[in-house]
This record gives sequence, structure tokens and C-alpha cells, in this order.
Amino acid sequence: MLRHPHCLTSEQLQDLLSAAHENFIDVIPLQQTYGHLEYVLKHPEFIHLREQPNHVAELCPMKSQSLSLVHRLLKDISDLHPHSRYLHLGGDEVRNIGTCDHCKAAGKSSSALFISFMNQVAKYAIELGKQPIIWHDMLKDARMRKLL
Ligand SMILES: [Zn+2]
Repeated sequence: MLRHPHCLTSEQLQDLLSAAHENFIDVIPLQQTYGHLEYVLKHPEFIHLREQPNHVAELCPMKSQSLSLVHRLLKDISDLHPHSRYLHLGGDEVRNIGTCDHCKAAGKSSSALFISFMNQVAKYAIELGKQPIIWHDMLKDARMRKLL
């Protein structure tokens, strides 16, 4: 359901990965895990996982099904890239972080919510045998006092 109609076939992907390997290029797969999930959250089955009903890009980190969904996405991409050392988890431009009632009730800063969720996501990437990578923009202004 989430596959783009023009995505590579499994055979095309394997050809691409083989060509990259033969030319000493490391392919780093990227799976969005927090923001930029429009292609997932636009589907009626996943609307309830949005941070805000009218914003299609971001998951709510406080809903347990959010992490389950991200785990499934990461498992799929990890299986497609068995020889990749790294797994990029995205995590950039999460503009509405902490704005839903569930997140507000948690009483955490946006930085603390972000770090808590991304730590759980990164832990799973490590369990898959990958070294996680994320974008830095959501952390560049985090200060210790905001994390408490
Ligand atoms: Zn939320």
C-alpha cells in the first residue's frame, strides 16, 4: 500500500546495489521515522497516528502504534539493504512536535519528546544490526534545561 507506483522493483534495486558495491560506493538507506511521513499518514488507516489531524507529515510519538509502524518500516528497508552498515532515520523538520493532547499531557519539552522517540527508533535500528544516523536540525537548539 505504501509503495510508490514508480519505485524500483526488487530486481532493479539489487542491480543498483550490486553496481554501487562494484564501484566502491556505500548506499545508505533512509527511512523517514518522525516527520516527512506524508506518504504514510495520508492513508486513512494511519490518520489517527498524526500529531495533528490537519498536518499529514508527522507522527505523534506518544501513541504506541507510532513506534510499531516505524519498526515495520525499518525492518522492511533493513531487509532490502542487508549489506548496508548505516540506516538513516531522518528525523528532520518535525515542526508540530509536542502539540497534541497526548504529548502535552506528557509534560515534556519538544526536545525531550524528540530525543525520547528517536532513541527508541535508534535502538531498534541497532537491533537490526545497523548504525543509526539522523539529521541534526531538531537537536541543534536543544539545551540541557529543555531536556528535563
Ligand atoms: Zn503527540
